[in-house]
Amino acid sequence: MNPDLVALLALQQDDAAVSKINARLKELDGEVALLDRAAASAKEALARARAALDAEEVRHRDLTNKVQDHKALQDHHVSALDAVRKPREASAAMAQIEMTRKVLAQEESDLHSLGSRIMDLRQAAGLQELEIAEIATKQKEERERIAAARAEVEGELKAGIAKRTETSKGISKGLLTKYERLRERGQSDPLYALRGQACGRCNTAIPLQRRNGIAGGKAVEICEGCGVLLYAMG
Ligand SMILES: [Zn+2]
Repeated sequence: MNPDLVALLALQQDDAAVSKINARLKELDGEVALLDRAAASAKEALARARAALDAEEVRHRDLTNKVQDHKALQDHHVSALDAVRKPREASAAMAQIEMTRKVLAQEESDLHSLGSRIMDLRQAAGLQELEIAEIATKQKEERERIAAARAEVEGELKAGIAKRTETSKGISKGLLTKYERLRERGQSDPLYALRGQACGRCNTAIPLQRRNGIAGGKAVEICEGCGVLLYAMG
């Protein structure tokens, strides 16, 4: 058998092994991405809870100030009433007191609802913080496992690439270039065996003369149909 063909077949095997190793690395990356996403979404939930809490606290502060102002106003109305002597002025002052009382009652009720909402939001933010800590603890072991697996697979990758580099040294430059170009174009297996009288990949019939040229592993030919490298053992 042509030594080029022997080396090329070996190279294709080496490359298949490297591809498998790369696929495993990609799987591990996918696992890390899933963990990252879970951690990120917990953090986003906390940020949302805190933003809602901040907004409600601002509203609470504003409303508290308003209530204080209205209470001061009410005190003013009440002392004004004491000074009033005429019945008409007294009823006007009482109407004003009544109106302010209603406003104050509504504001104090709103303040109360806001207060309980703030407590709920604080509790939710606190729970979310616990959740984040729990996720980090749970993920720690998982991340360590993945990192260890990754280190091992990276070692395999390094060895696999060294092996294919060594193997490629045994192939004539022209043929190796053709092989590499096919791989660059996404053809993971550039080398195909003849199937019967046709290309093993695209089934294009190979003329007798060229078939004879590659028979018994004498040489490698390019398929005119799909461009892969063809060989024949028989
Ligand atoms: Zn073909």
